[in-house]
Amino acid sequence: MQGRIKPLRLQDIFIAVKTTGRFHGSRLALLLDTWISKTKGHVSILIQSVWFNIIVTACSPEHSHQALSCKMAAEYDHFMDSDKEWLCHVDDDNYLNPKPLLDILSTFTPDTDVYIGKPSLDRPMRAVELLQGNKTREVSFWFATGGAGFCLNRKLAERMAPWASGPRFEQTSAVIRLPDDCAMGFIVEKRLGVSMIHSNLFHSHLENLLLLTPRDIPRQVTLSYGVFENKMNTVEVMGAFSKDKDPSRFRTVHCLLYPLTSWCPSP
Ligand code: UDP
Ligand code: MN
Repeated sequence: MQGRIKPLRLQDIFIAVKTTGRFHGSRLALLLDTWISKTKGHVSILIQSVWFNIIVTACSPEHSHQALSCKMAAEYDHFMDSDKEWLCHVDDDNYLNPKPLLDILSTFTPDTDVYIGKPSLDRPMRAVELLQGNKTREVSFWFATGGAGFCLNRKLAERMAPWASGPRFEQTSAVIRLPDDCAMGFIVEKRLGVSMIHSNLFHSHLENLLLLTPRDIPRQVTLSYGVFENKMNTVEVMGAFSKDKDPSRFRTVHCLLYPLTSWCPSP
């Protein structure tokens, strides 16, 4: 087996956070105060149409499939232009814990194709692919839900280029008429025949986050929060802040992981 010569570092990962104008004050501020502050500038933030201190793209600020695919295409293209080994996507309602992320990605050698994340369903996605001449075909494939975060390695990303680079990502998304994260799974599994790696360490607010035990929480790659069936869905963690002061629980998790942070209560 061919191992890595150097240990994987955070700066070897292109971490893309997708956000939009109206979430700057609420969601993004929370991330900047917490996990992004620990990544020493190694995070790229795609805000509406602007890469934070990087490059301007021309995606519309809407929540349409097309606008979101445009953002995913921007993430892909900027990763390809970089010299990083991994592309990891997260939403602006994800907490990313760098240590378990590095641990899990370090288990893969660069010569394998890796697409890792958490499916949002317990079965493959089914879609109707539009073929030439108005024909269609049913396809089924696994995809990693964007709201839990997912990662791709460079070897696989390079092979995805015919369906993912430049305008092609949006075209592929249109062929199956599904959002950007589904299009990613479609390209990997159906166009390239590579199986997604299912991980239980990535979490979106589509799953019951109460099921994570306090002992599990520091070992997870991503966490999330949101409203599920009209109730707030968050991890259950006791510590620095009350649920009133810290409804997402991200500040409390952050103080568990980094108790010496200036705004955490002294341990
Ligand atoms: N988002 C976006 N443009 C929009 C709405 C949402 O880029 O018009 C981003 C948002 O910042 C987040 C992701 O899309 O990173 C998912 O949005 P949200 O969590 O609000 O919705 P969900 O799909 O999880 O219900
Ligand atoms: Mn969300």
